[in-house]
Amino acid sequence: RTVFVNGEFVPEADARISVFDRGFLFADAVYEVTAVIGGKLVDYAAHQARLRRSLAELDMASPAGDDELLALHRELVRRNGIDLGSVYLQVSRGAADRDFIWPPAETGPGLVLFTQTRASLESPEAERGLRVAVAPDLRWGRRDIKTTQLLYASMAKSQARRDGFDDVWMTENGFVTEGSSNNAYILTQDGTIVTPSLSRSILPGITRSAVLHGAAEAGLAIEERPFTVEEAQGAREAFITSAGAFVTAVVEIDGVRVGDGRPGDLARRLRRVYLDEAMRTAI
Ligand code: PLP
Repeated sequence: RTVFVNGEFVPEADARISVFDRGFLFADAVYEVTAVIGGKLVDYAAHQARLRRSLAELDMASPAGDDELLALHRELVRRNGIDLGSVYLQVSRGAADRDFIWPPAETGPGLVLFTQTRASLESPEAERGLRVAVAPDLRWGRRDIKTTQLLYASMAKSQARRDGFDDVWMTENGFVTEGSSNNAYILTQDGTIVTPSLSRSILPGITRSAVLHGAAEAGLAIEERPFTVEEAQGAREAFITSAGAFVTAVVEIDGVRVGDGRPGDLARRLRRVYLDEAMRTAI
């Protein structure tokens, strides 16, 4: 694979990052993952807008202008022949003597891009639906910023896998925040889609925004509010969204079956609608 690092395209084996890079030492870095379908970038503008916001929240310099970033994405997709997969972009504050105080802006930023491929739009997991564990949300308090500080989510998901689950839903003050790397939803028995409202407690998912928009256009009832694990376990359906999972049904929560234990009609419909729209609007 070719990757982009330090201003150039290089074979991945030749890519080098300083041991003093603040992304490495402090997780002082933000990132985006943009899906690629049919060689095109899905929801690209929204991912770039969120990147700009993450950078601004952390007072981090922009690594490149809009046109240049888009050109880098496209060039990497082309060089690696990606038809289906994703582009990962990371901006770190750059390399500086190890210090808790942010170095001057001239130090950075460091920009890295690489691609990942996927075999198919479908997956056995998506077809049968996910079984999620439940764990306390012990991440930091600015989850609205997409930083590379992913250790707790990684730890909780790994524990969930060891316990035989596919993923984990995290809870705080008795309510579900989100999945390890996805937003969480239920469909109530009376037919309302419920998902936590945006706050510092969750990442404002790009897929969340697209799916809620599509659902509203279809005239479906939506409530952005907290829900508990118990409410989710008694719901008609449950599902998650992310740039990687699109819309994927959740069929079991902490060992309790949701509905009849199979992916629900709404989750399947939203997945189809989302993918159609993603392909139609990809650039
Ligand atoms: N929540 C978290 C914690 C995530 O890491 C992600 C994606 O990686 C999401 C939600 C979903 O966001 P998006 O739809 O932009 O991929």
